[in-house]
Amino acid sequence: MAQEQFCDHRLRVYSDITQLRASPENPTPLVRLNRISRNRSFPIYLKLERYNPFGSIKDRIVYEMLKSLAVGDRTLVEPSSGNTGIALLCVANSLGIPVEVAVPERIPEEKKVMLKFLGARKVWEADDALCPRFPSEGARGVVSALIKSPATKDRYISPNQYENELNVQAHYQGTGPEIWRQTRGKITHFFAGFGTCGTITGVGRYLKEQSPEIKVIAVEPSSSDHKLPGMKRITGLSEEYIPKILDRSVIDGVVEVTDEEAYTTAAELARKDGIPAGPSTGAILHAALRYAESNKGLAVVISPDDAFKYTSFYQDFLEQGSPDKT
Ligand code: PMP
Repeated sequence: MAQEQFCDHRLRVYSDITQLRASPENPTPLVRLNRISRNRSFPIYLKLERYNPFGSIKDRIVYEMLKSLAVGDRTLVEPSSGNTGIALLCVANSLGIPVEVAVPERIPEEKKVMLKFLGARKVWEADDALCPRFPSEGARGVVSALIKSPATKDRYISPNQYENELNVQAHYQGTGPEIWRQTRGKITHFFAGFGTCGTITGVGRYLKEQSPEIKVIAVEPSSSDHKLPGMKRITGLSEEYIPKILDRSVIDGVVEVTDEEAYTTAAELARKDGIPAGPSTGAILHAALRYAESNKGLAVVISPDDAFKYTSFYQDFLEQGSPDKT
């Protein structure tokens, strides 16, 4: 059986783990929220990316970026707030390719443990907050030094999710069409966070091509010193430091959310609708709930990952009432 090549989504039998990746034939679930928002003329649906095989929205882009990368006998190295690193390790492990990951030191310990558990050759901890002002600093700076330095450049190759159009393509060909099909074209508002900006650009572009009326709303932390791993504050950054793959032409609005609002909304989502999601889901959902106060239509909110990689951050929130006070 192990030698046969097959992939049957109905029976859920696969030849290898990467076949479980989401696609329009095998979409991640779209679940309506019934208690956190009671506005029936603006139903909110969460796109649960935790159901990707390695637990987050980043599984999609890693598969796409590795497909055509000529790694040879080099080591993969990538800047990540954890999710891309975890997905990269899982896919690369299944192909026998070594991986190093550079992370901001302020990501949760749970994510660092996972990267080591998955066998990262090295986890570089960059001495910075989650949102360094310059790509030459922090985790991106570590990777760019390894890729460019004459002493190390021959040993490494980086998919570079911040500049790789395949990041956008994964969402343009996968996440976007899934949402369009799952809502039977009824979606009117799409909400996603700013990080590498692959999700908002790829899904936004696809949805606008189906119907230019659809509103694409981006969500960002209200301060660059935040506790929302995976998200970036783009407003105020000078052009050269903004992820190259961001296409602003697909974005109709940007909403700023505080840590407190994000964590409180994530807790409410768990307690009212039974969905344990990460803090960035709380931030993105908070923006949609604001829109629900004065809009009609059908909203889809991206939920990039689940709560379990953030329990230490949630612990601080539960003990102190606010993530800002830690
Ligand atoms: N939330 C989380 C938890 C993430 O890992 C990411 C990816 N960096 C995002 C939001 C933002 O997604 P994107 O990189 O596609 O902008």
